[in-house]
Amino acid sequence: MKYIDEFQDPELARRLLDEIRATVTRPWALMEVCGGQTHSIIRHGLDQLLPDEVELIHGPGCPVCVTPLEVIDKALEIASRPDVIFCSFGDMLRVPGTGRDLFQVRGEGGDVRVVYSPLDALRIAQQNPDREVVFFGIGFETTAPPNAMTVHQARRHGVKNFSMLVSHVRVPPAIEAIMSSPSCRVQGFLAAGHVCSVMGMGEYPELAERFRVPIVVTGFEPLDILEGVRRTVAQLERGEHTVDNAYARAVRPEGNPAARAMLEDVFEVTDRAWRGIGVIPDSGWRLSPKYRDHDAEHRFSVEGIRTEEPAECRSGEVLQGLLKPHECAAFGTLCTPRTPLGATMVSSEGACAAYYLYRRLDVPAATAREASPVV
Ligand code: SF4
Repeated sequence: MKYIDEFQDPELARRLLDEIRATVTRPWALMEVCGGQTHSIIRHGLDQLLPDEVELIHGPGCPVCVTPLEVIDKALEIASRPDVIFCSFGDMLRVPGTGRDLFQVRGEGGDVRVVYSPLDALRIAQQNPDREVVFFGIGFETTAPPNAMTVHQARRHGVKNFSMLVSHVRVPPAIEAIMSSPSCRVQGFLAAGHVCSVMGMGEYPELAERFRVPIVVTGFEPLDILEGVRRTVAQLERGEHTVDNAYARAVRPEGNPAARAMLEDVFEVTDRAWRGIGVIPDSGWRLSPKYRDHDAEHRFSVEGIRTEEPAECRSGEVLQGLLKPHECAAFGTLCTPRTPLGATMVSSEGACAAYYLYRRLDVPAATAREASPVV
C-alpha cells in the first residue's frame, strides 16, 4: 500500500538500526508524546530492536488517557439526563469514571450514541430539534480543528440545541511540564507528526533551546520512528538541541493555516488538568466567549463532581514515563482491556493496552529481535 509498505521495509529498518548502533556511545532516554507512535513502537518491537543504550519512554500522548476523571464524570452526568442525546467516539464509552462508564449510562436508559465525526452529532441535533445534543470533544491539536469547525457550523446554521463538552489538550505545554519536573529523565523528544501537520513547528524551538533538548518531528510507521530516533540520537551525541523535521512528507513548518485560523476563532487557551499529571498551565482549549452558547459545561452547569481514582491504578506514573505498564502490579491480572482500571488500558492508544495487546512482558531483547516481523 502506497505510503505504508515502503515505510515498513525490513532492509531499510536494518540499515537504520545499524546506523543508530554505530552512532550511540552512551545511554539516552527519548520520549514519544503520541499514542499512535507508542502502539507502532510496541507492535513492531522497535524498542527491543534498538541498542540497549537507547530507551524509549511512552509519554502522555493518548488523548483518551489524559482526559481527566472529572471531565468523564461530567460527561456521565450530562449523558444521564432524559432530554439529552450524548454523542461520542466509541473509545470514550468504556473509559471508567468514578464508579461507572458511558456504556452503563446507556444500559440504564441514557441516549448515548457512537458517532464517527462531530458533524454526525450536528446532524442528529438538526434531526432532533426538541432534544439537547451534546458531543464529547476531546483530544490533541489533531481532533480540535474538526470539532472547532463543527461548533462554527452549528452557530452559522443556528443549531441552538447543539453543544460540545470540550476537553482539548495541547502538546507543547505538556513537554514544558515534563521537562520542568524534578524527576524528568527525558533527553530528547519525538514530536508527533500529525500534531505538527496542523500546528506547524513554531512552538518548539524555544522549548528545545530553553531545556537544551532535541525535538524531532516524527511519523508513525516503523521507518519513520527509527529515522526520528536516529536523528535524535545523532543530535544528542553531537551535543546539539535543535528542532528537526523527519516527517517532511506531511509536515510544513507553518502547519495548516486554515485549521489554525479555525482553532483561533472558536477556542481560547486555558489551563487544563491532565489525568495522572495534574493541571498544566495553558495546556488546553475551551470554547471562546463568542461560542459560549454551545459550551455544554456552561449550558448544563454540572457542579459538585467528586472524583476518585482506583487506588491500584498507576496510570499517572505510566503517563509521565516513570513506570512501564507491565511494572504495575494490576497489569494483566486485575486490569485488562475487558476490565480496565485506568484509561491507559481502555484506549486503543493507551500504553497499558499496547503492552497487553502485543503481549509485552519481560521478553529478552535477543528473543524479540528474532521474533520481530520488521527486521
Ligand atoms: S495496568 Fe491498569 S491499573 Fe496498571 S497503570 Fe495501567 S491502567 Fe492503571
